[in-house]
Amino acid sequence: MARIVITGGAGFLGSHLCDLLLGRGDEVVAIDNLSTGDISNIEHLFGRKEFTFSPRDVSDFIWVPGDVDVVMHFASPASPVDYLEKPIQTLKVGSLGTHNSLGLAKEKGAKFFIASTSEVYGDPHVHPQTEDYWGNVNPVGPRGVYDEAKRFSEAITMAYHRYHGLDTRIVRIFNTYGPRMRANDGRVVSNFIVQALRGEPLTIYGDGTQTRSFCYVDDEVNGLIALLDSDENDPVNIGNPNEFTVKELADIVVETTGSSSTVEMHPLPTDDPTQRRPDITRARKILGWEPQIQLREGVARTVDYFKTVVDH
Ligand code: UDP
Repeated sequence: MARIVITGGAGFLGSHLCDLLLGRGDEVVAIDNLSTGDISNIEHLFGRKEFTFSPRDVSDFIWVPGDVDVVMHFASPASPVDYLEKPIQTLKVGSLGTHNSLGLAKEKGAKFFIASTSEVYGDPHVHPQTEDYWGNVNPVGPRGVYDEAKRFSEAITMAYHRYHGLDTRIVRIFNTYGPRMRANDGRVVSNFIVQALRGEPLTIYGDGTQTRSFCYVDDEVNGLIALLDSDENDPVNIGNPNEFTVKELADIVVETTGSSSTVEMHPLPTDDPTQRRPDITRARKILGWEPQIQLREGVARTVDYFKTVVDH
């Protein structure tokens, strides 16, 4: 049994991680400033003696009393809508927040795990994206606040690994969806499902030919834990390699919900990547992990969740 600190523990991925780790007997300390996280994601864990919630901003100095075996840094806005609305917070939590989390791990002699992202590849010229691709990121564009913060977080993590000998893990998370995304999160899967349930037009940005590869949250967190338990210090892509256009996703959501919604075209956001698909050869080989839940099944499960939380 390990004592694990999760920053962003009340967020979408952070809260699923809390559940999985508590389920296997670990003790969890969740830290979150509730900027984009939601207390309702972890309320069911209150009262469990193995679970502590600490409402704090990890961009400020953080301290956790007692032994700590692992620090997992998951705090950050992750939806483009959120990080465009909170650009400075996003840069701070990826830089200062990562530094503080690394400092905590170093002080405690703990393993450190950073949640990085497929956004480090930017608008990729290599397809599918392998971990040795350095990416194509516009540092001064609006998405740069997230992309560069995460690139910095990878760089400082490797520096702590090389210079201080910290035992570190770097995961590059590709588009993940599922229960506990916020209805107004702004990402495409939640937007389309909520719009379809309400009978509103589905908002396609651009012409809908851009691609993403969507991973169901249960698969994603299983991959994260497999990486945590491995000895791998270099970055590993964790995502579902089945690639869809945004238009195809809209069709699947309309079909699954049985909605009468139409689609509506909106301008493509600046620097929106035209294609994205993980090469998961390393994850398969090193971790023996691959996703099990495909898009139609995952969308159906997510629709069931949103039916319970949105008026429709
Ligand atoms: N998108 C869309 N309609 C929406 C929200 C997003 O067409 O209502 C598009 C967006 O422009 C992008 C893709 O869907 O091409 C995925 O967007 P998301 O915000 O989910 O994540 P990203 O992969 O861009 O970080």
